Amino acid sequence: MARPHESVVDGSEARSPVHPKDLPSVDRLLRLPAVAALLAEHGHSCVADQARQLIDRLRAQALAGALTAQALEPASLEARMGEAVRQHLAPRMRTVINLTGTVIHTNLGRALLSDAALQHLLAMMAQPNNLEYDLASGGRGDRDTVVEELLCQLTGAEAATVVNNNAAAVLLTIAALARGREVIVSRGELVEIGGAFRMPDVMASAGATLVEVGTTNRTHPRDYEQAITERTGLLMKVHTSNYAVQGFTTAVDEAEIARIAHARGLPMATDLGSGALVDMGQWGLPHEPTPREKVAAGCDVVTFSGDKLLGGPQAGLIVGSREAVGRIRKFPMKRALRMSKLPLAALEATLMLYLRPERLTQDLPTLRLLTRPADRIRALAEALQPAVQQAVAPRFDVGVCDLLGQIGSGSLPVDRLPSAGLALAPVQRKGAGRALDELATALRSLPQPVIGRISEDRLLLDLRCLEDAQPFLAQLPQLKEALA
Ligand SMILES: *Cc1c(COP(=O)(O)O)cnc(C)c1O
Repeated sequence: MARPHESVVDGSEARSPVHPKDLPSVDRLLRLPAVAALLAEHGHSCVADQARQLIDRLRAQALAGALTAQALEPASLEARMGEAVRQHLAPRMRTVINLTGTVIHTNLGRALLSDAALQHLLAMMAQPNNLEYDLASGGRGDRDTVVEELLCQLTGAEAATVVNNNAAAVLLTIAALARGREVIVSRGELVEIGGAFRMPDVMASAGATLVEVGTTNRTHPRDYEQAITERTGLLMKVHTSNYAVQGFTTAVDEAEIARIAHARGLPMATDLGSGALVDMGQWGLPHEPTPREKVAAGCDVVTFSGDKLLGGPQAGLIVGSREAVGRIRKFPMKRALRMSKLPLAALEATLMLYLRPERLTQDLPTLRLLTRPADRIRALAEALQPAVQQAVAPRFDVGVCDLLGQIGSGSLPVDRLPSAGLALAPVQRKGAGRALDELATALRSLPQPVIGRISEDRLLLDLRCLEDAQPFLAQLPQLKEALA
């Protein structure tokens, strides 16, 4: 039996099984030139650990009679060590290319941060900052003050506070205003958002009792009035963000519910879900209720997300009256749900973009993508078609097509965004389903995974979110190789 250093690649010995006793030691592995280079770069612990794991894997293969001397060639061992260390040190969180057509995709990280937010985030995290330090007095400050003034200015509210996400904002609002009491909500608004966040469960977690009024499709002012008792703590409205109730429907608006609540000395809260800070209608997008409208309608509390239409980091924004927001801020649970300095810095910079509203469609990625004209997206599809066709030929045909995308994240669920992209269809009808799955897998396996969607025997790549085509084009040779 040849020792590894004596083995020959093309001799018959190269293909004969190796005995476990012929495996290299960790030390020998670490002395191979390319592995020594890895050691110098990453240190002993990391590389030696990978060497031990590689030898364990080789031993298992040898015991199964499945290891050839060829696998023990220095070049082969070096290559496997390089790959093992690279994989071990590769982050699990990676950027992907979102060609799903859904702009605010919850599974793909929702809103993209603006350059301004990224820069502010980086600057604030690299140095100590005044997160909870009052520079005027030299005493302790409150982290809410970083964004409170901006939020009040942008929504017309008297006060504002922020927490980790909007689910936390809703939970905290209910707990602070109605713990141990009843909360009245219309049956048409008992929403579930992404599985774990269901309005009845949130009520229970907050220690409040849900009182449902009206029916799924119709709720009237008298339904709220009649449900109010001495146990009532809060009247609440929830924006049905991920579904639409259509047809024979009546809902009571915030102004009316607030009037009913205030007449009985009770607070009223509304959960907007997405909550756009500006009127989306001005860009031809469907109108989404704004916090400003709801504050003006008399709501004591308005909650909304930071990373949906607002286009910022994950955050739960709470704006409203000084008295209601004050109770929320003082509630002990607030400390457990408070926002970290990372998203807070990003949120501040994102909100500041709204001080220059005319520039929003350039400066805020979410709005830039949502307002991208379909004909421009189509022109991009036409420009990319030949290169993509070349990469997936001869197994797939590539056509340019009009598509309908989505805003996403439960915003405006029934509205579709006219868009365009590429449709990749298997040339052979037989086995088309498997071919499409293979194509989708190959796209997802690229260094920067490409995520499309399969619909009606075609793989669709919606190009609305492809602002820079270069990283996509640069990977086409690898796609071609994967499909060969
Ligand atoms: C999305 C949404 C939430 C949850 O917001 P997160 O920021 O994801 O926690 C709550 N309520 C409504 C109506 C929503 O649409």
